[in-house]
Amino acid sequence: MEIIVNKTKCTGCSICIKHCPFNVITIDNRLAIIGEGCTYCGACVTACPFQAITITKEEKGPHTDLSQYKGIMVFGEVRDKKLASVAIELVSKARELANQLKTKVTTVILGEKVGDLAEEAIYYGSDKVLLYDDPVVKEYRNDSYSKVLTDAINDHKPEIVLMGATSIGRALASRVAARIYTGLTADCTELDMDMERKILLQTRPAFGGNIMATIECPNYRPQMSTVRPKVMKKGKRDEKRKGEIIKLKPGIKESEIRTKIKEIIKSGTITVNLEEAEIIVSGGRGLHQPENFKLINELASLLGGAVGASRATVDAGWIEHFHQVGQTGKTVAPKLYIAVGISGAIQHLAGMQTSDIIIAINKDPEAPIFNVATYGIVGDLFEVVPALIKSIKKIKGMD
Ligand code: FAD
Ligand code: SF4
Ligand code: SF4
Repeated sequence: MEIIVNKTKCTGCSICIKHCPFNVITIDNRLAIIGEGCTYCGACVTACPFQAITITKEEKGPHTDLSQYKGIMVFGEVRDKKLASVAIELVSKARELANQLKTKVTTVILGEKVGDLAEEAIYYGSDKVLLYDDPVVKEYRNDSYSKVLTDAINDHKPEIVLMGATSIGRALASRVAARIYTGLTADCTELDMDMERKILLQTRPAFGGNIMATIECPNYRPQMSTVRPKVMKKGKRDEKRKGEIIKLKPGIKESEIRTKIKEIIKSGTITVNLEEAEIIVSGGRGLHQPENFKLINELASLLGGAVGASRATVDAGWIEHFHQVGQTGKTVAPKLYIAVGISGAIQHLAGMQTSDIIIAINKDPEAPIFNVATYGIVGDLFEVVPALIKSIKKIKGMD
């Protein structure tokens, strides 16, 4: 990539200086000069009233030369100092695909004091781990993680890159794919190889889950996918497996990162990560009042599960967006999903219908949620849920 200031167009007005988040522009002799540290974010290009700045992208970069790209790279997402379950699932899947392709698996791990996780990735099937153990990547931030992963891909040239379709994975994958000019298939539920053409077949639900689309990226490399948590099986953990751990420094300084994390405040409600929860109890507009989410919280807490919600309740401000399940919220596939006072609109079903067991509680026997439910309870949630809570407490000896 290259950033150029057109000498004949630039008037030296200095407007671009104020817009550069990285303070790398100076004016010399009425001409804007772009200094070191430019991230090609494009803010100055948009800001310049004289269209004097252009960023050029290599149209025929090395990423189109498919023969240079080998191996499978997995983003080893870290949650609470542990490899996220989805990262382990993806390392296991990558191992399976790599065996077919007769190639290697590399996992990229970023964080602070996360050295132990490198071995964990190897136990599940990684051949190599690129370990960025540094305070600058302690927490996920778009600038730092996108830069590090883009550098790792450019240096190691994997033919396939896999990430979890979590909030972090989704934010990161789209940014990295744009930086390296390749395609991205988001939210996959199936991955396979066309061995004849050596192409990754990336399958994902489309049109609200009504069809399954298999997407290919034949002309660019790497082939990138985000994969929903819990759809791939974790492989066997083998402590005898050996691999190479490469310790690297992130190629970005704290001063180059636009976001500063001052404090991380956990949500006041149940904090289990929705995408990885085995049990989810979700509330809908049938709760009538935000305060009635306490019923959902109590049931979820008794079952050791997480709290989900329909968009109607999120839009009404009853609960934070973090809890929303569905097309514009989280995609979940727990062992047990309990939908309480949720009608079952197609956009909600798109985010939960692959759950193992679905229990629907709704007073309307015609509610579409019953079409996907394993068990349906037609009744008033204000009678059914307290009765359930009472029974569970009794079973647990909490009465
Ligand atoms: P309602 O549809 O109002 O259903 C409430 C249900 O509660 C009814 O079935 C009713 O019978 C039942 N009920 C009422 N009182 C009781 C009671 N006392 N006991 C038992 N049952 C009772 N929605 C999502 O959830 N997630 C998404 O990601 C999402 N994305 C969307 C994206 C787009 C582009 C659009 C257009 C919509 C999206 N929606 C999404 C909204 C979706 O279409 C529905 O409007 C929404 O899911 C409805 O939420 P609900 O089921 O809580 O409310
Ligand atoms: Fe030059 Fe445009 Fe920057 Fe003004 S805003 S100094 S014209 S590049
Ligand atoms: Fe600054 Fe972004 Fe322009 Fe580079 S592209 S000079 S980082 S505003």
